[in-house]
Amino acid sequence: MAGRKHGPAETVVVLGGGVGGVAAANRLRRRLDRHHRVVLVNRDPDFTFAASYLWVMSGKRRPSQVTRSLQVLKRRGIEVVVGDVENIDPARRTVTVEGRQITADHLVVSLGADYAADTIPGLEQAGETFATLDGAQRLSPVIKAITRGRVLVVTAAPLYRCPAAPYEAALLIDAILRRNGVRGNVNVAVHSAEPGPMGVAGANVSAAVIAILADRGIDYHPSHQITAAEPGRADFADGKSETFDMLVYMPPIRPPAVIASSPLAGTTGWIDADRQTLATAFPGVYAIGDNTQLPLGIGKPLPRAGVFAHAQALAVADNIAAVIEGRPATSTFDGHGGCFIETGFGKAGYGSGNFFAEPSPKVIVRPPSRRQHLGKVAFEYNVMRRWL
Ligand SMILES: Cc1cc2nc3c(=O)[nH]c(=O)nc-3n(C[C@H](O)[C@H](O)[C@H](O)COP(=O)(O)OP(=O)(O)OC[C@H]3O[C@@H](n4cnc5c(N)ncnc54)[C@H](O)[C@@H]3O)c2cc1C
Repeated sequence: MAGRKHGPAETVVVLGGGVGGVAAANRLRRRLDRHHRVVLVNRDPDFTFAASYLWVMSGKRRPSQVTRSLQVLKRRGIEVVVGDVENIDPARRTVTVEGRQITADHLVVSLGADYAADTIPGLEQAGETFATLDGAQRLSPVIKAITRGRVLVVTAAPLYRCPAAPYEAALLIDAILRRNGVRGNVNVAVHSAEPGPMGVAGANVSAAVIAILADRGIDYHPSHQITAAEPGRADFADGKSETFDMLVYMPPIRPPAVIASSPLAGTTGWIDADRQTLATAFPGVYAIGDNTQLPLGIGKPLPRAGVFAHAQALAVADNIAAVIEGRPATSTFDGHGGCFIETGFGKAGYGSGNFFAEPSPKVIVRPPSRRQHLGKVAFEYNVMRRWL
């Protein structure tokens, strides 16, 4: 069928200027003729690359190196609207941004996840997180100043962004303490809500991460959900308490408030979408990235990770461009992807494979190496330089 490259002007609205949103808007702009509009809406004027926050924590990046103004997208012909999305009407594909209504012919929802650290009493007051840029920046000098004591790294149920991140945090803290020659005076322990590290990826991945932790003398306590904290003390679901000198946490997440209160919310509060096309139940509305709940054969959802948000964004953008131009929409997200596990000393492990494989994800682990570390650097470069 002949394409309609120059058909009537259509408007694509992308909600969220994170990894998924920025990739989708850029790809759409590259694919579509200039008379079609691509509009990106984000709460903040800047994009920040969360996967590099751990390097901000470990002093390898300055915050300015992982931050870009979204205004650069305007030069490429993407309209940027900075403001809070207050309402989404998916049936009409109309969104309200700080009182102003925008109607789309095609809508891509990539609003990420809200942090829910407040569900664990005292956690925010007693600890610090590397899951925000500010938190990672605050942690950096504090970790460098440690000379003795106990560092607890905790994850929290039911869900958090990037399954590798808390383990990377513990390993990077360990590396800093070793470099400073004080590791012998500091106990480092991970208390995870889940029964094993990166468990969705399979028992082989969990075992590999546990072995890396053990090799570095990091105590690991699986299935140990933190329930409350106060300065110097953390309480756990099994009734036990731990003392600490520093508490570092990966906060649990909840669906963004604007999604939870919209018809897009599925039974879990996240958006249900077709796991290959990312189409929602509403025609012309797609959901990608962290705000999406994609079921896996093992009964758990696809982990929240930027690599998946990125791949989904490209598939959705290609399909929207195809629909607009009257071509068949054939792109799919196939469930392939991987997670880097930064281990410090310029190395990273890498667990990658097919998360949609049945009956369970088929993921292999590559042991820590310089090459895998450079793979994570390349992911950062790909997003920060290619799209922004
Ligand atoms: C410490 C850390 C390390 C990580 N490491 C990795 C890694 O190594 N590899 C990897 O693949 N992934 C990693 N991740 C996960 C990755 O960052 C996320 O999966 C990815 O950012 C998801 O992209 P997204 O587009 O779905 O959401 P986001 O990137 O979170 O973007 C959502 C955007 O929507 C905006 N927004 C939300 N609500 C509104 C609203 N109401 N109105 C307007 N704007 C709104 C937000 O401000 C944000 O800009 C890491 C995450 C953390 C926290």
